[in-house]
Amino acid sequence: GQKRPLSDNQFIEGIKNGDQTILAKAITLIESTKKQDEVLSDEILNGFLKLSGNSIRIGITGVPGVGKSTFIEKLGLLLIKKGRKVAVLTVDPSSTVSKGSILGDKTRMPELLKSDNAFIRPTPTNNNLGGVAHKTRESIILCEAAGFDVVLVETVGVGQSETAVHGMVDFFLLLKLAGAGDDLQGIKRGIIELADVIAINKADGANLEIAKQEASIFKRALGLFPPKQNGWEPQVTYCSALHDEGIQELWSLIDEFNIKTKKNATFHKKREEQLQNWMLEIVEQTIKKNFYSNQKVKILQDQLLEKVLSKTISPKQAADMLLSSFDIKP
Ligand code: GDP
Repeated sequence: GQKRPLSDNQFIEGIKNGDQTILAKAITLIESTKKQDEVLSDEILNGFLKLSGNSIRIGITGVPGVGKSTFIEKLGLLLIKKGRKVAVLTVDPSSTVSKGSILGDKTRMPELLKSDNAFIRPTPTNNNLGGVAHKTRESIILCEAAGFDVVLVETVGVGQSETAVHGMVDFFLLLKLAGAGDDLQGIKRGIIELADVIAINKADGANLEIAKQEASIFKRALGLFPPKQNGWEPQVTYCSALHDEGIQELWSLIDEFNIKTKKNATFHKKREEQLQNWMLEIVEQTIKKNFYSNQKVKILQDQLLEKVLSKTISPKQAADMLLSSFDIKP
């Protein structure tokens, strides 16, 4: 029969009770780009702002094949054994590049999927990383409200996704492959600077010794970066997700980070900065979108461009005129 949509109260109660079906529906609503869903999703979200925040948010990145899903499954199962509740969200810009999604496949973590204490949510296809990132931020809040006290945000090293995820988590983990050259891994120096821990995965069999050597090379390389403002010195470790080795050690590092940054108050400060950035990013995105979709701007832009290209006016003059047409004082 016809399904009646849930009311905001049903959503709020369901999420408070940790009902995963309702949580999933609420996230679908939040991800919806339909204007009429926005009111309800805003209401649900606002209902939870004060309840949110009670988790550790961990970003996990690494190239396809490095072992992210294997690792997340093992880490997730370990945490559940410790009595934690684990939510796994993904930010996957690859789905727009290749149509197929690298991270969207739910069967990647079959054991974790079976647990009532795990919630796994792939991101839908979307061609707008900025937009996806905000939806993920909202999803984090809903997961926390539903009682998940560890939120893992997984992303693949494509485009700006690591930076976006870094901007919404407390702790950032970079997984690397043992025995693969840096060029092969497509990992940019900037990503290494974002990492709180670098873990070299697939440190097993013939690769174990190589992984150990690489770990010490990385340690030295990290020592060359200036210390982070939060007082945390990025660590390098190795693990085998497949054989479930080194996962507990890695979690201990995250725990240590958690304790240290809470003690020196940088944990809280970072979250406040992230809230501020979240707000301002939406403002910026909206201004941009409105500007470029404005009919007057569109027409004038072409005319001015012609003049710029024929060197009749300077790019600066053209920009000033374009902005003035939108009531922005240059
Ligand atoms: P993802 O694309 O980063 O999510 O990588 P997957 O978790 O899907 O792993 C890719 C492949 O590497 C799979 O065949 C895994 O079984 C394998 N793999 C993952 N972790 C390890 C590991 O620690 N050691 C070894 N030898 N293989 C691993």
